[in-house]
Amino acid sequence: MLLKIILLFSLCFTYDLVAAQIYITDVTIGDVANQKLIPHQTVIITGDIISRILPAEKVEVPANAIVIPGAGKYLFPGLTDAHIHFSQSGGLYTRPDAIDLRKYKPYEDEMAWTHDHLEDVLRRYLQAGITTVIDVGTTINFLKQREQFRNASFAPTIYMAGPLLTTYEPAPFKDLLDNSPFNLVTSSADAKKQIAHQLDYHPDLLKIWYIVGQDTSDTEASARNYLPIVKTIIDETHRNHLKMAIHATERITAQLAVENGCDYLVHSVDDEIVSDDFVRLLKKKNTILCPTLIVHDGYVNTFGQKLHFNTDDLLTGDPFQLGSLLDLQHLPDTALANSYKHYANAPKTIAESHQLNTTMRANLKKLVDGGVTIATGTDAGNIGTLHASSYMHEIKAMQESGMTNWQIITASTLNGAKVLDKEKEFGTIDEGKKASLILLNANPAENLEHLTHIDLVINHGILIDPDTLIKDSPEALVQKQLNAYNCRNMDAFLEPYGDDIELYIYPNQLIASGKPDMMLTYGELFETNPSLHCEVVNRTVQGDTVIDQERVVINNKIMEAKVTYEVNDGKIRKVYFQL
Ligand SMILES: [Zn+2]
Repeated sequence: MLLKIILLFSLCFTYDLVAAQIYITDVTIGDVANQKLIPHQTVIITGDIISRILPAEKVEVPANAIVIPGAGKYLFPGLTDAHIHFSQSGGLYTRPDAIDLRKYKPYEDEMAWTHDHLEDVLRRYLQAGITTVIDVGTTINFLKQREQFRNASFAPTIYMAGPLLTTYEPAPFKDLLDNSPFNLVTSSADAKKQIAHQLDYHPDLLKIWYIVGQDTSDTEASARNYLPIVKTIIDETHRNHLKMAIHATERITAQLAVENGCDYLVHSVDDEIVSDDFVRLLKKKNTILCPTLIVHDGYVNTFGQKLHFNTDDLLTGDPFQLGSLLDLQHLPDTALANSYKHYANAPKTIAESHQLNTTMRANLKKLVDGGVTIATGTDAGNIGTLHASSYMHEIKAMQESGMTNWQIITASTLNGAKVLDKEKEFGTIDEGKKASLILLNANPAENLEHLTHIDLVINHGILIDPDTLIKDSPEALVQKQLNAYNCRNMDAFLEPYGDDIELYIYPNQLIASGKPDMMLTYGELFETNPSLHCEVVNRTVQGDTVIDQERVVINNKIMEAKVTYEVNDGKIRKVYFQL
C-alpha cells in the first residue's frame, strides 16, 4: 500500500522527488556485462544516477529515503531498441514505396498522424521497459520534434540519425523536403552538402541506405559503383565525430561498408552465409550488428494477411496502426489487395522468405560465436512491425537463432549503449550510471518472457508504474476489441469491457450481460469462422460514446449494423446493436 502511495505521489510530484534518494533494497541485480545474477544488493539512486550499490546487509536506510523493497525481484538495465523509425507508424499506409495506398490515406495525413502520436509511441516504449531507442533514419521534422521530449519522465532516451543518405530514392518520397526520410546523394560533393544540412539539426549518428542494383544487375559491380559516395559519407561523418550506421543486407555491401569504416550495420546479411573472414573483419573493426530478424516477415505476413497477433500485441500495441494492418481484407481496390495477397502467399515467396530467415539466423549465430557485438533492434515502424510491442518478437527470433538468454539480454542492454559509445553512461547497473532500469517480478535469464513482467520502470531516476503510462481513449478501447474480434482472440476481446458489460438489441432488449455471457455469445463465432472480419465503415465519437457503422463478414455473408459503445471509467459498459 505504501509503495502505491509513493508511486502516485511520484507521478504527481516527480520533480520534487528527484532530489530524494531511492533505495531499492535486497534486490537481485542483473550483471549484463558478466552475464550473471548478483543477489542481495541494495541500489541507491540519487537524482537520475545510480549513486551506490552495496550488499543489502551493510545498508541502513535513512528515514527520509524512498524505499522500494526488492526482495524476490530482479533489477536490470532498461532495454534498448537499437533500430527503430519514428517517422513510420508500423501501419499499412506508412511505406507507399512498398504498397501505394495514398488514394486512401495521403502520405501527408500519415505523417501528420505519426507526429501527433509521437508521445503515445514514446509512452508505449517505456511501458515495455525500453528506456532507450535509437532511430536510425528519420526526417528533419522528427529531429526538430524530439527536442520536446528530452528528459520527459514518460519518454525513453532518444538517439536519432538524420534522414537516410541514399543512392536510391523511392518515387513517393521525392520533393518531401523536411518530411522525407530519404536524402538522395548524387555525388561526393552532394554528400558533403547533405551532411552539413543534417548537422544543423543535431543528429546523434548518420545513416546510409546502401541500396544497389539500380545501375546494373551485377550486385558487386553496383556496390563498387556507389562506393566512392559511400566512402565520402563515412569519412565526412567521422570528421564530424559521429557514428556511421549503414543499411547493407548483401554480403558484398556489408563487407565494403565495414572495410571502409562503418560503425554499425543495422541489418543481417541475408543473401549468403558469411565467411569466417567476414566474422573476423567485423570483430577486428569493432563493428556492431543489429540483426532485425522480424521486419521482413512483418511485410510478408501483412500482405498475405497471415498476421498472428498474440494477446500482448493486441493489448499493448497501438490499436489503430495494428487495426490498419487488417485493412487489406476490405480495401475497395480488391485487385490491388489480391495481387499483394497472391504474391505473399505464392510458394516462391514463401520459399524465399524461408531461405532469407534461415540465412539471417545462421549468420547471427555465427557472428555471436565469433565474438561480434550484437545489438537488439526491431526496425519498428515498418509495415507490420509495431513500435514497442514487436520487441519481444525480435527477442524470440534471436533465441531461435541459438543465442543464449544472457547473450540476448546483453544485446538488449549494454550492447545498445555501445552503438553510440555510451556504455559508460548506461546499459549496466553500476555506480555512476544513469538510473534507467527495470524492476522485474521474475528472472529474465531463466525465461525471456519475464522481461514483460515489469513491476516498475525507473526512467531518469523517476519511478513509474508501467500500467499508468497509457490511458486508452473510448475510441482506443473500441478499436482494441475490434482488432481482437478480427483476430478471434477471446482474452484480448474481453479486456476492454467492464465486468458489468451489457449487450442490447437497440433500444432495450438485453442479449448478454457479464463476460461469461459474452464468452458464450462470441466463443462459438470465433471458433467456427476463420474468415470472420469486421470493417468499420464509419465511426463517430461523442465524448464517452463511440458509434460504429460496421460491416461484418460471417460465413461469407455480409451483415451491416450500427453499434453504439458506451464507455465509463476506462471500460466499455454497454453496447447497442441496430441491425
Ligand atoms: Zn530500418
